[in-house]
Amino acid sequence: MQKIIDSKRQNTLDELYRAFETVSEGSYVYLCDMKYDYSKWSAEAIQYFGLPGEYMYHAGDIWEQHVHPDDQASYHNSIADLFSGRDKGHDMQYRARDRMGRYVVCTCRGTVLWDENGTPDYFVGSIHNHGLVNSMDSLTGLQNQFGLFEHLNVLYSKQQKANIMMIGVGHFSMINEMWGYDFGNIVIHKLVQRLKEQFRNEGVLYRVSGVKFVLLTSTLSLEELEQRYEFLRIELSEKLEVDGYHPNLQVYGSALEVKMFQINSQTMFSCLEYAYNLSKDRGNGAFHIFKDEIDESRTSLLTLINSIRKSIENGCSGFRLYYQPIVKAQDGALQGAEALLRWESPEYGLVPPGQFIPIIENDPAFVQLGEWILQKAMTDTKPFLQTHPDFELNVNVSYEQLRQDSFVAMVKRTLETTGYPARNLCLEITERCRLIDMRRLTAIVSELRALGICFAMDDFGTGYSSMDILSRLKCEIVKVDKVFVDNITQNEEDAQLIRVINDMAEIYDSRVCAEGVESVEQYELIKKCGVSTIQGYYFSRPLPLDAFYAEYIAAGIS
Ligand code: C2E
Ligand code: CA
Ligand code: CA
Repeated sequence: MQKIIDSKRQNTLDELYRAFETVSEGSYVYLCDMKYDYSKWSAEAIQYFGLPGEYMYHAGDIWEQHVHPDDQASYHNSIADLFSGRDKGHDMQYRARDRMGRYVVCTCRGTVLWDENGTPDYFVGSIHNHGLVNSMDSLTGLQNQFGLFEHLNVLYSKQQKANIMMIGVGHFSMINEMWGYDFGNIVIHKLVQRLKEQFRNEGVLYRVSGVKFVLLTSTLSLEELEQRYEFLRIELSEKLEVDGYHPNLQVYGSALEVKMFQINSQTMFSCLEYAYNLSKDRGNGAFHIFKDEIDESRTSLLTLINSIRKSIENGCSGFRLYYQPIVKAQDGALQGAEALLRWESPEYGLVPPGQFIPIIENDPAFVQLGEWILQKAMTDTKPFLQTHPDFELNVNVSYEQLRQDSFVAMVKRTLETTGYPARNLCLEITERCRLIDMRRLTAIVSELRALGICFAMDDFGTGYSSMDILSRLKCEIVKVDKVFVDNITQNEEDAQLIRVINDMAEIYDSRVCAEGVESVEQYELIKKCGVSTIQGYYFSRPLPLDAFYAEYIAAGIS
């Protein structure tokens, strides 16, 4: 039964509303009496969005129906964080549907006024409407990512097949640094001009971020897109001229077929970005067409990723953490464990992370999963600290997570909510972090290190800038990649390499952990290289929590 607001509270609501309205500066205002879930909203907002009336019961539920489906999860989380007291204020950008059914970009801010018992009394805030124009990029005149998703939604609603291509330029910051931003802007203009000429009347172009563009076409086939791409690649890298200079653009590209309309458009976009990253990181610019198969098995990768994405939206159901012991090299005693993610479903069984993390880590939904991983790993292993106070919990963090402005706050919040001692936590980062501005990355590491958290440089030696990252961030732990361990019994040089890495790590006061030790022979040789700890199947595979507990904690092997 709905509680009907009494006249005293109604008067207070009106008075408070008037006060907020005078300071709202062109934004819509909303004020909700939380005791009755009764709100007053600006008349302009009611009119613009086609809401039931200035006074509304359950306005939050009504408004949520206006938030774009792809933004609803993050909207929901933001509101939940606010009412649980985790966040002091709600401040986010999302798309909301106006009364004509079009989406506009809004910045929504809000805060809760609590009563003396610590329960929400009023919820007040403002919505700033940036309007439809925000789906337009002012520099190039192209529509941006919001525009692309709108277009995709139209195709979805008509079940109309299309091909989608991503094309972008690498190392653009170097061009800006060498020749200045004005020059950089002219280059972007010329680039867009060339793209427009190339695809005139054959599709719609979008600028999805920085120097990354997307073409949505229903006339060009994937093969034709590849041919056009190869042509553009040569032209942009060799022939583009600005003010007599040749910026020699390094071009990357990918494509994907849009034909399965049960797949969320964000999943599709994440797969396109994943293929683009392959063109960039591994392909040296070779066009990468997303292959919708898992390990040649003909099972649809898009369908798997889509299910995994839904799992994240569903409170991370279906995800599991396994724990692999890390032991001291000298005597095999337990030092700690690395938390390793799995996804499980009746249809696919237990899916290893290599099959989905590289794809979904670009997805906005991954932020939620990252927080779940950290929280779950700490909650799972906190009881171990009673008998093993020096237990080291290693948790992987991906480049995409670190890039988020909210990363440090998320880690702090998770430490607080779990009560896990920061000194028992080690975050594993990879050399992909080089893509983050180094000053920012150093600041993130310093702030977390000040709390007591330590850092491990994962997969050391596999990327060309591992050494650079180590020297700048001074990670406490260096994890030597399995490839160095694999041939150690046949190849004396590999053993020497591990010794060199160990000596080098000492310069930075880092300890070395050797990964992927599988046999007793490897173990004996590795021990002699001076490394501090070892992780590998020889000691144990990653185990579910119960098995890890029984084997390493309860049995008292420490
Ligand atoms: P990683 O961080 O390098 O993790 C070590 C991987 O090596 C694990 O694979 C582990 O099972 C495997 N491994 C350990 N010892 C041996 C051995 O002796 N022989 C062999 N053949 N393999 C060994 P897993 O669990 O499949 O994870 C693969 C990768 O997925 C991880 O590589 C990491 O990059 C990523 N990953 C796993 N969990 C997470 C997570 O929670 N967050 C993030 N961002 N990435 C994760
Ligand atoms: Ca790792
Ligand atoms: Ca590793």
